[in-house]
Amino acid sequence: MTRKAVPPNRENLAAWLQYFDDLRIGGFYRDRGGLTGHAQIQPASISVGEENPELSELKAQMAKAKTAVPAARVAVPPAFPAKASTAPVSSAPAILKFDTLSLGRDASLFAELEKVQGDTLERIRADIGDCTRCRLCEQRNKIVFGSGSVKADLVFVGEGPGRDEDLQGLPFVGRAGKLLTQMIEAMGLTRDSVYIANVVKCRPPQNRPPEKDEVATCIPFLLRQIEVIHPKVIVCLGNIAAQNLLGTMKSISHFRGQWFDFRGMQLLATYHPAYLLRNPAAKSDVWKDLQKVMAALGLKLPKSAVKA
Ligand code: URA
Repeated sequence: MTRKAVPPNRENLAAWLQYFDDLRIGGFYRDRGGLTGHAQIQPASISVGEENPELSELKAQMAKAKTAVPAARVAVPPAFPAKASTAPVSSAPAILKFDTLSLGRDASLFAELEKVQGDTLERIRADIGDCTRCRLCEQRNKIVFGSGSVKADLVFVGEGPGRDEDLQGLPFVGRAGKLLTQMIEAMGLTRDSVYIANVVKCRPPQNRPPEKDEVATCIPFLLRQIEVIHPKVIVCLGNIAAQNLLGTMKSISHFRGQWFDFRGMQLLATYHPAYLLRNPAAKSDVWKDLQKVMAALGLKLPKSAVKA
């Protein structure tokens, strides 16, 4: 594996120190405590413990959105529209960033380290092999690598395979997957034209959320997939994908439908289709989010959305 050299600079050093601090590994400096709560060395544009302008902007936007949204619930569509149609719309989305040291932060040392020169999806799959790197291998049937087009402008990231996915080795093929397929088709796209992957590639037992160490073991492969495909837009489906790509503990309800920069790509988080199966009323929020994605991709919006 050829890795790109990363020039040492203050930001990269700070990122390393923060990383080791996060891991509770200390003793790198004789005269300083950890970064958390001290923030002696801070990566440029990131403030640990105090609010930065980008976070203030996010909060202001969220406050504005709260006051702008009428209290009454928007009528819930029975399902996603069968097909998108008509009227081109362009948009210049406001790109936000979190105030945390984020996996998704562009130009980080880690982003550079994870880059593999000449990487391909085939190579990533080969590197995963018959993986036994974490305990999720013990009960899995099939590794669910991901599916779709390597040329996709749009990548969906879910949490991890469920029962059907584990049996078939394909992402989002169960009930939630069928709803995701409807969502994709409502955007005027097909499953083959986008790419679908998960944070972890093996099914967690009883569909529990993947644990931190399982995510840490598996996510480098997802990051490589994203880097190879380099879509215009990444849509995180649910908390696990959003929190792990954006490097935040905040619940998705705080930032759903907002744009973020992810290593030069646009990222938006929306609710997971499995959540929509339990809470169909949230479909209208997700459809609004998907229309933002359509606008960012230059896809034609339904007439109703253009009028609104
Ligand atoms: N839920 C996910 O997050 N991913 C899948 O592949 C299926 C269900």
